[in-house]
Amino acid sequence: MELWFTEDQTRDVRISCRVKKVLFSGRSQFQEVAVYDTDEYGRLLALDNIIQTNIWDEFIYHESLTHVGLNTHPNPKKVLLIGGGDGGSVREIVKHKEIEKIVHVEIDQMVIDVAKEFFPELSSGFSDPRVEIIVDDGIKHVQENKNTYDVIMVDSPDPIGPAVGLYGDEFYRNVAGALKEDGLLVAQTESPFFNRDLISRVNATMKNIFPVVRMFLGIVPTYPGGAWTFTVGSKKYDPLEVETDKLPDLNTKWYSPQMHRSVFTLPPIFRELVKE
Ligand code: SAM
Repeated sequence: MELWFTEDQTRDVRISCRVKKVLFSGRSQFQEVAVYDTDEYGRLLALDNIIQTNIWDEFIYHESLTHVGLNTHPNPKKVLLIGGGDGGSVREIVKHKEIEKIVHVEIDQMVIDVAKEFFPELSSGFSDPRVEIIVDDGIKHVQENKNTYDVIMVDSPDPIGPAVGLYGDEFYRNVAGALKEDGLLVAQTESPFFNRDLISRVNATMKNIFPVVRMFLGIVPTYPGGAWTFTVGSKKYDPLEVETDKLPDLNTKWYSPQMHRSVFTLPPIFRELVKE
């Protein structure tokens, strides 16, 4: 009998993929964790039946979330990643040799364990000696650590369960408090087709907190709508002012110095979300 994974992307839209094998299925303290092997997407990680990542398109999201911010800050030494237990973002962050310390705060040990076992291509960065993994709530971490980080990246799931607070006003204020005086934040900010209210709210909130706020786009075919947004909130450095010809080659498949600025060019239908 054929086995299919199906995610309800909205109340009326579903995405399905034929499954060759269920590699893992378990329930952590926070969520349902499942790993499927598929022909189309390769191995796929779902949390609460929502696609988080898969071998086929993961690099687009992970390279976008990390390199735009890390290449905007001229000298990131200490960085924080919240969420992202699959390891894809850490794998990209460790490519930046100037970084001395990478603190990775993921709430769910089961996601980290599953990534190590089933996604070695993503979790390879966990063994970098600069990486410290803390299994805890990222919301609490930014409350408790002031004036500490050069760059903070938020690799969160959709705003459900333990991730709801990762989209809240108080969280962004605490992120600003956890950043040094010239620090910057990059957060994934969901679908510009299906999460329009959330994007506008988050953007307005960030503009109350950070002098420089810029949304940029990526394409993630397996996420709802395909187009995906990320938002930079910066105390000083503007990603549009980066001298891109001086950026290093990071051996990437999606991000490139040539597109560092162009990802911020929004079509009118998305520009209206952020009132630019
Ligand atoms: N790229 C993905 C997406 O957009 O769907 C996100 C993937 S990553 C697996 C998201 C991780 O954030 C999950 O492993 C989840 O456990 C973690 N997470 C959720 N809420 C969190 C919180 N409050 N603090 C730290 N990690 C959290």
